[in-house]
Amino acid sequence: MTKTSYHLKSLVSGKTFDDKDWMLEAPNESQPGFIRAIYDKKQIDFKSNDFGIYKYSDWLPVHRHLKGSAPPVTYKSEGLAKELGLKNLYITFSGYWPEKGGMMKTCSFKETEAYSVCGRMNSQSDKILVVASAGNTARAFARVCSDNNIPLLLTVPEDNIDVLWFDSPINDNVRLIVSEKGSDYFDAIHLSNIACRHPGFFPEGGAKNVARRDGMGTTVLSAAEFIGKIPDYYFQAIGSGTGAIAAWEANLRLIQDGRFGKNKMKLMVSQNYPFTPIFDAWKAGSRNILAMDDEIARKQVAEISAKVLSNRKPPYSLIGGLFDAMTDAGGDVIICNNEEAIIANDLFEKFEGIDLHPAAAIATASLIQAVSENMVEKNAVIMLNITGGGEEKFKKENRLHYLKPSLFFKIDPDPEEVFENIETLF
Ligand SMILES: *Cc1c(COP(=O)(O)O)cnc(C)c1O
Repeated sequence: MTKTSYHLKSLVSGKTFDDKDWMLEAPNESQPGFIRAIYDKKQIDFKSNDFGIYKYSDWLPVHRHLKGSAPPVTYKSEGLAKELGLKNLYITFSGYWPEKGGMMKTCSFKETEAYSVCGRMNSQSDKILVVASAGNTARAFARVCSDNNIPLLLTVPEDNIDVLWFDSPINDNVRLIVSEKGSDYFDAIHLSNIACRHPGFFPEGGAKNVARRDGMGTTVLSAAEFIGKIPDYYFQAIGSGTGAIAAWEANLRLIQDGRFGKNKMKLMVSQNYPFTPIFDAWKAGSRNILAMDDEIARKQVAEISAKVLSNRKPPYSLIGGLFDAMTDAGGDVIICNNEEAIIANDLFEKFEGIDLHPAAAIATASLIQAVSENMVEKNAVIMLNITGGGEEKFKKENRLHYLKPSLFFKIDPDPEEVFENIETLF
């Protein structure tokens, strides 16, 4: 049996639903909010690593297991822990680091969501999945869909297509279309929204997709499995904050499980200064992201080294979103600049032995800051979520193949033209 038993529940009305028709939100709600997967099995069985990410499938909303996945790995830090004077620092690593068991070939925790989301899809679906991304998400979905023969339309800004590197060619059931040079992630999202109005295509759904969140939540399951208890603190660099929401939801399930303690991890999330919309809203005590000047935001995004942290419309204010998660669990938002990230990356490489994704370097920098400002106790159980790493190593060890665009579109394309052209790709 590879189908997990679960149903969906609206966090707004409490109504429950069977998972049919790719539900992303409950119909006719009084306000925006998430749905959540409720699993029949309250105590999770950890399967062996041979199952890849599906070793956690008791708590993944999947109908099938796909091939080629790898789980996140957790280990207890010695080098960095000693350097920072921490007694119980645990590192959860998603990326490429075979010596530690890290086998994610697209080198980030976006793989956890891609295998979960595609596993949620019904194999009979005759519609084509659409994913918009500026980087890691596109790479993860391209790999999973290519290896498992799932039709996929990717929309990416043309300026970002150099992130689409792979160790083997991508099959032509995966097609890439781009928004022309000078466009950004938001233009790619716009293009994907147009594509999804075509009846033959459907959206992945982002944070609203229960499979995306519970896929990312496997990082916390990995930590709880290894440590044997729920950590006291959770450190992660965020753009949308979906990973932190997912961590909180996994935490709530672990409490219900009963074997891992009853505490809620403090959510210590970090952003790359000067692009700090979640920090600004949290510090202002606001449930809503503060108004942003378009020009200023673009300039700030251009400055930050961790581009994956540049989300301008995070799922922060809706019911069950990041504001609710942090209010319930406690925690804080920490900001770190590019220089602090470089220092953190060097320290991590020196004491742990692997290169970090720039976003994971921000998370590490935030931990350094939290320690120096006594925001955490020295003996606290700390989970540092290294959301991406080993990219340098992977690129060195492999001959790379790049996915090439099939179609180019203007920043604000004519929908009819988009429809006519994307139909011809599959
Ligand atoms: C997407 C991404 C993040 C941010 O994740 P969210 O939880 O969605 O904000 C952090 N690190 C890496 C490597 C990522 O790819």
